[in-house]
Amino acid sequence: MLDDDRPVVYLTFDNGPGPRTPEFLDVLDRWNAKATFFVIGGNARNSPDMLTGIVSRGHAVGNHSWSHRDLTELPPLEALTELRATNRLVAETVGRTMRCWRPPFGRNNDELIRLAATAGLSNESWIPSGRWDVDTIDWKFGYEFVLSRLETVEAGDVVLMHGGMNPDPEDLAALMTWLLANGDDYRFEAIPGCSPDTITSPPPGSLAASDPATRYLTTDPDLWFQIQRGSAYLSAFGTAR
Ligand SMILES: [Zn+2]
Repeated sequence: MLDDDRPVVYLTFDNGPGPRTPEFLDVLDRWNAKATFFVIGGNARNSPDMLTGIVSRGHAVGNHSWSHRDLTELPPLEALTELRATNRLVAETVGRTMRCWRPPFGRNNDELIRLAATAGLSNESWIPSGRWDVDTIDWKFGYEFVLSRLETVEAGDVVLMHGGMNPDPEDLAALMTWLLANGDDYRFEAIPGCSPDTITSPPPGSLAASDPATRYLTTDPDLWFQIQRGSAYLSAFGTAR
């Protein structure tokens, strides 16, 4: 039974889901830990079973855009479409409506916050900056550096990691062991307000099937790889407009 007096830490994993997501989920299960996964729509489309696994094992999911471009650099309609398309993908895959988001690279501004709100997404409810308290920079550095960052964790902190890159799953297990031994006797919870709702109707801000912008999402199963190369998304979106 959960000891509710233990201080909480909110682990978050960005950019998934990916092939190694199940290993991360297994590690989290060892401590009955819940986390929040800020997913990329294109990756979720490529790994729908992984997305289903995240939700079915009790973790929260948030919106991390469709293709992980800097949304502050995009025209508003394109930025909004990045969020709405990811909303729709998650709703169609797991039948849940996401409630929170994290902008790629943590880059945000007031206009984006307003746009996200029109898609039913908030990042103001759980942390004032909508970002994180402790950035492990695990996408760039290895275990020892991540450990040095975790030394700064305090109760209530949101910790940024990246599932599927660094640390690898066994590193994550070692880091959690370290946190429990050297920090407080933490419990690990999903961010309040990020657990997606079960939907019975189209989620707010979802792309309607008739929306011309859906063309770039639905016509080509290999489009995600073109998006990663940089040009297909823009040209397809331009056509849609
Ligand atoms: Zn990211």
